[in-house]
Amino acid sequence: MSQTFDIAILGGGCAGLSLARELANLSYSKRVIIIEPRTVYEHDRTWCFWADAQHGLSELVSKKWSHWRFSSQNQKVVHTGVGSSYQQIRSSDFYQACLEIISTRQNIELRQGLYAKTVSISDNQVSIETDKGLFTADLIIDTRPRQAHDDAAMLWQVFSGAEVETEAPCFEPFTAGLMENMKSEPRGLKFTYVLPATTNQALIQTTRFSPTKLSPTQLDDEFQADLDGLVQCPVTVKRWERGCLPMGQIKRRATFSSKVIPAGQAAGVLRPSSGYGFLRIQAWARASASELVKDSPPLAKPFGSRLERTMDATFLAAMLQSPHSAADWFIGIAKCLNGDEFGQFMSDSPTLKSWLKVVCALPKTEFVHALFKVTSQFDKKYYQATK
Ligand SMILES: Cc1cc2nc3c(=O)[nH]c(=O)nc-3n(C[C@H](O)[C@H](O)[C@H](O)COP(=O)(O)OP(=O)(O)OC[C@H]3O[C@@H](n4cnc5c(N)ncnc54)[C@H](O)[C@@H]3O)c2cc1C
Repeated sequence: MSQTFDIAILGGGCAGLSLARELANLSYSKRVIIIEPRTVYEHDRTWCFWADAQHGLSELVSKKWSHWRFSSQNQKVVHTGVGSSYQQIRSSDFYQACLEIISTRQNIELRQGLYAKTVSISDNQVSIETDKGLFTADLIIDTRPRQAHDDAAMLWQVFSGAEVETEAPCFEPFTAGLMENMKSEPRGLKFTYVLPATTNQALIQTTRFSPTKLSPTQLDDEFQADLDGLVQCPVTVKRWERGCLPMGQIKRRATFSSKVIPAGQAAGVLRPSSGYGFLRIQAWARASASELVKDSPPLAKPFGSRLERTMDATFLAAMLQSPHSAADWFIGIAKCLNGDEFGQFMSDSPTLKSWLKVVCALPKTEFVHALFKVTSQFDKKYYQATK
């Protein structure tokens, strides 16, 4: 016997829980199930983004930085946010807040310890086979990560790092090191990300933009060397944080039904040129929930404008062609935009003015060549979710 729901959300991570939270906030009355393998939610990542002082998740922000820095061997740029700041939400706080609001709604059920295996459609319903039984639903929102064979991207943002505590004060708590000590190397741009919480505590990650998908643990030794260079006193590792994020995701096979909506990172939500996705997921969750309460299922559509996706793909193609120049290009972008413009450029949909400034700051020949390559392949290759 299967259990029947109106909506089944596969995956209770950032996208799945964000949607459930928005549905709960709007007092959605139909039956929703979230199928999530994790039995316990732990602090497994931190989400950072640029935002104004007040926004819908302000109460969850654990730290804000008004200054952020970029540096390479011989150049340094520091931005100051006037209207916006770089903000951090700990995943444990976010999960907890979502679970609390979901638990107030009897019609929204989080089922933990369950793996969704296969999804099939018959008549007007979708069946989900899990390791603990069969479920049916009218609509599926599928946020499960992509399978390895289905996961392709132009570049990968691979990082390994940790939250550390030092015995002596080592960090400047008001400035985030976004891209520190950038080095253009044949196997991709390398930099260090330093998010100081206090003078003694920071999240430090060694990051590479790699043309091949690497296991993040392959960067552990480089992280240790970077940490030794930054901190000259005894240090304790509190929590590791590693990841491998697609940049310029290659499009997936077509969605086979309007009843199965791909969502989250697996559906291409991350901004191709930066890997940021948290705010996009929140915007998607709000828009989808407001459609669902009106009884109109959300459509799977590409994230960001066509211009943005083309320009991002062009930037990535140029980086692939000229890996030795990437550090100078990022310094050039940081120089041509002010703090607020940069924040918007990295996370949200950038304005035309910011695009023009960025285009002017970058070398024309490489970019025209990359643009030609990208536009001739765009529809075939680069990410476009099915309509
Ligand atoms: C370490 C790390 C740090 C990041 N930092 C930032 C940041 O600072 N800013 C930013 O904007 N973005 C960041 N990102 C990128 C992005 O915002 C996150 O990856 C975000 O969590 C993506 O949300 P999601 O729901 O698509 O995926 P996830 O949050 O990974 O959720 C997917 C869910 O699917 C579940 N699942 C897996 N298999 C199954 C199955 N068979 N059946 C059912 N469920 C399944 C998983 O358990 C998980 O809960 C970061 C990513 C990582 C990995």
